[in-house]
Amino acid sequence: MTRTFSGVKPTGHLTLGNYLGAVRRWAETDQHRSDALFGIVDLHALTVEHDPARVRRLSRQAATLLLAAGLDPELCTVFVQSHVDEHARLSYLLECTATDGEMRRMIQYKEKGARARAVGESVRLSLLTYPVLMAADILAYATDEVPVGDDQAQHVELTRDLAMRFNQRYGHVFTVPKATHPQVAARVMDLQDPTSKMGKSTDGGAGIVYLLDDPDVVRRKIMRAVTDSGQDVVHDRESRPGVSNLLEILAACEGGNPEGLAGAYESYGALKKDTAEAVVELLRPLRERHAELAADPAYVDDVLRAGAARARGLARPLVDRAYRAIGL
Ligand code: ADP
Repeated sequence: MTRTFSGVKPTGHLTLGNYLGAVRRWAETDQHRSDALFGIVDLHALTVEHDPARVRRLSRQAATLLLAAGLDPELCTVFVQSHVDEHARLSYLLECTATDGEMRRMIQYKEKGARARAVGESVRLSLLTYPVLMAADILAYATDEVPVGDDQAQHVELTRDLAMRFNQRYGHVFTVPKATHPQVAARVMDLQDPTSKMGKSTDGGAGIVYLLDDPDVVRRKIMRAVTDSGQDVVHDRESRPGVSNLLEILAACEGGNPEGLAGAYESYGALKKDTAEAVVELLRPLRERHAELAADPAYVDDVLRAGAARARGLARPLVDRAYRAIGL
């Protein structure tokens, strides 16, 4: 059976980008047709400034949201990365496989590092090595498929390179995984700056729809989305990034394709209104289920405990094998 692994970082509240790019497919498809593991990858949250209590809170919230989004612990494994030592153990071996040059070429490192330096912050070494830990997350489970948004494509490519290099040097240990991306909305853009990705880390952002935003907040954010100069509704990411983003969100909510939907609209206002309502409807069941689950923290704890036990049982023998292969 195909093995799937993917994860979310508890660096902020989950966004519509996380949902459309990744989480929705995990619930609708991946957990049904593969042996799927989903991690709350909290070690990755330590690569930037953070408040420890907030990381803990956000990890639990992310777990609750994943269950609210439809992940079923009877069908898949949901766990917290730091509860499974094998991720850090394997990460070190992969650091010995990767080169500093390939780490420095990672787009996310360049962008996040430059942003930190611009405001006089130092850059943690773990921000540079983050893709290696991500490779360990994936390889520790003999993963075949990694369902992610477009922004993670480069990191999954690196994971493939590291797996192949390790196998070539030390003998076959790792399955070489491949990324899968959604057909539409693989990169949801910020509503206020449609040239950059809707990312969860800038809290309170007017251009970010959070999964737990009140319906009126969702409507307001979408109605105030920056659109482009011009009047006609066309799907062209280069020249019309704002409108194209709305069309992709609407297409992802309702089915259909963004180019086809464009023809149905004569004004930006009507497009925004329909997109806002479609997103509100999409998120409604998730919000309701989240409220129920949040009232039952013991259930979420049980799910995470069982998830970590299963994940450990899978990762342990594989990581042991990697240590033996490398001569330890
Ligand atoms: P973030 O960038 O919001 O911190 P994570 O690194 O936790 O997100 O990613 C969780 C999943 O959500 C990944 O598969 C990632 O590719 C996907 N994702 C994140 N932002 C977006 C977006 N704006 N559009 C589509 N997918 C996204």
